[in-house]
Parts: sequence; C-alpha cells; structure tokens
Amino acid sequence: MAIYNFSAGPAVLPKEVLLQAQAELADWHGSGMSVMEMSHRGKEYMGIHAQAEADLRELMGIPANYKLLFLQGGAHLQFSMIPLNLMRDKASADYIYTGEWSKKAIGEAKKFCAVNVAIDNKDKNCSYVPAFDTWKCDPNAAYLHYTPNETIGGVEFNWIPETGDVPLVADMSSNILSREIDVSKFGLIYAGAQKNIGPAGLTLVIVREDLIGQVAAGTPTMLDYKTHADGESMYNTPPTFAIYMAGLVFQWLKKNGGIAAMEKTNIAKSQLLYDAIDSSNGFYNCPVNKADRSRMNVPFTLKDAALDGEFLKQADARGLLQLKGHRSVGGMRASIYNAMPLEGVQALVGFMNEFASSNS
Ligand SMILES: *Cc1c(COP(=O)(O)O)cnc(C)c1O
Repeated sequence: MAIYNFSAGPAVLPKEVLLQAQAELADWHGSGMSVMEMSHRGKEYMGIHAQAEADLRELMGIPANYKLLFLQGGAHLQFSMIPLNLMRDKASADYIYTGEWSKKAIGEAKKFCAVNVAIDNKDKNCSYVPAFDTWKCDPNAAYLHYTPNETIGGVEFNWIPETGDVPLVADMSSNILSREIDVSKFGLIYAGAQKNIGPAGLTLVIVREDLIGQVAAGTPTMLDYKTHADGESMYNTPPTFAIYMAGLVFQWLKKNGGIAAMEKTNIAKSQLLYDAIDSSNGFYNCPVNKADRSRMNVPFTLKDAALDGEFLKQADARGLLQLKGHRSVGGMRASIYNAMPLEGVQALVGFMNEFASSNS
C-alpha cells in the first residue's frame, strides 16, 4: 500500500532523495566517510555546502547583493534575530498579524523593540488576508514583517506587499520554494527547513547585504547576521547533514523543472483538494476565504465533529497519515508540500468522497 504523509512539519521528503541519501549514507561518493563524519572544513563537505548554496541561488534567482545563510535555531530564533539585527536606529517595526505564526513573531519582537501591528484579521477568526489599503503602516518603520503562509490557519498571501523603502521581512517557513517570487522585493526571507526544504535542524536566511552589520549593542556573536555572512555560514559547525539533505532536495527540484514546475503542480494539487471540500454539500468545510487559501496547508472540518475520530482511523488504514488538525483549531489539516505527489492528493480526495457518501 502506498503511504502518503500529510504532516505539517517535519514533513514528507521526495522518495528519490531519501533513497539517494540511503545509498550514500555510509560512504559518500567513494570518500569512505558518511557526510555526518566529515570535517566541515574538509574539501568534500565544502563542496557539498557550496553546491547547495549555488543551487538554491539559481532556483530562487537570489541576486548577488543578498547573502544566503545556513543557520540553526529554527524560524523561532529568527523571531529574535530579526529585531536585534534590523532595528538599526529606528523607533519601531511594523508587523502584520494574520494567525498563529505572526502572533508568535510579534510576541517575541516585543522583547526587543516597539511593535506597530499595522493590521490584524482577528475580526474573522484569522481566516483571510487583510487588503493592503487597510494596513496602517509607518513610513519610518525599521522593517515590515509578515507571514506569507500561515501554516496552522491555512491563510496564504497570493501577492507581495509593496513597502517602498521599508525593508520587507517574510517568514516563508511553509511556502518557500512552492511558488515563484521576486527575491529583490524583500529585505529578508527566512524559513525553517523542515516543511518544504529538508530535515529539521537547518534554517535558511536570505538577507540583503546593506541590512547586515548594524546589530544592537550587546547582541551575542551567534545572533549577529554579520558573523555568519562573514564566516560563509561556517563560523561554527553548521548542521552539515541537514545542509547535505537540503542540497539533494535542491537538485531534485532542478531536475524536475524548478520552482515554476512545482508551482504548477501545487496549484493543481490544492485545487483538487479544495474542489472536493467545496463540492461536498457542506460535509467538509474550509474556513478560509477562497482567495486566500493556502496551496501548502489545507485545513478543513467535518460537519459532524463526532466523526473526526472515525475519519482519521479510516484514513490511517488507507495509508493517509497525519491528517489531524493543529491542536489549536481541531478538525483536519492536509499539508501538501512540494514532495507530496499529485497521486497522494488524489488518494486523499478519493477517500474523502467515499467517507462523505457513506456517512451522509
Ligand atoms: C513551523 C513554522 C515556524 C516554526 O519553525 P521552527 O523551525 O520550529 O522554529 C515558524 N513559522 C512558520 C510559518 C512555520 O510554519
């Protein structure tokens, strides 16, 4: 039986990549060593590291005046590093509140700076993206932070805010590499790797060079972007195996048509699932405003929540795993990142249709 893993993160990886890693695990390219055993200063690992960086730069079209950093600490550590590094001499930062992850970013930033929440969507239970002309932005803000894809709520921006001279900062943990974006519109992009990139333990930061080097006094060395930019992400031991795995995913993406091809498949996959929900005569419901529905994380509820347990049990028995919704919202959530094949979504939709007709 085929197994399809709909976990929100850590999440599904391309089977091909896992098999390649397996084949190379104990002896990487005849070196006699596992990548895990290599010195990060040795020529073998340095090559892996440089290739991963070059491939991601090519895939995303990262301009030359941006640094790409391979860090640790997850997206959570960026919630602190961003204000520590980007406040400079400014009085406050703008934040957009669209759900659980932006809420967390705001909570942490408040420890380091004055936060102006330029808009929130709490009036409708965080189920939509507020229109840009309703935002109360500060033209003197140090930066504007937003969460292009709210992994828990399933709300995704299908547009990029135009913030002029105010650097735009984006938490792309759950939708990086899923759609084409113009990196030059951003001051800083960050993402924990464990959703759409590779294993947990690696965090990507893409930051415009002029924003580096003005860190708040007293900031620990490890929390200064300059430390890692100057050290080529090797100031200390980087998460070598996670970077190697991410590099294999980048090669897999390149082989499969790059981000444009992924985006096309992601549109088809998400459309298929939302259509199944919307055509179920209310048996399933997605609470998110149609125009703002995520292509990566699809939350839905059953009309009768008493059937949740049975739905999950039967799904599991068919190899459709990890569909339970986030503890804060209940119901179901299907995360359908790049590595989830179309067949997985087709299998889920087939099951959902059957379950609805036998329980209506
Ligand atoms: C998962 C997630 C995080 C948290 O990531 P960690 O790497 O666990 O710190 C933050 N933001 C978003 C949008 C996420 O999806």
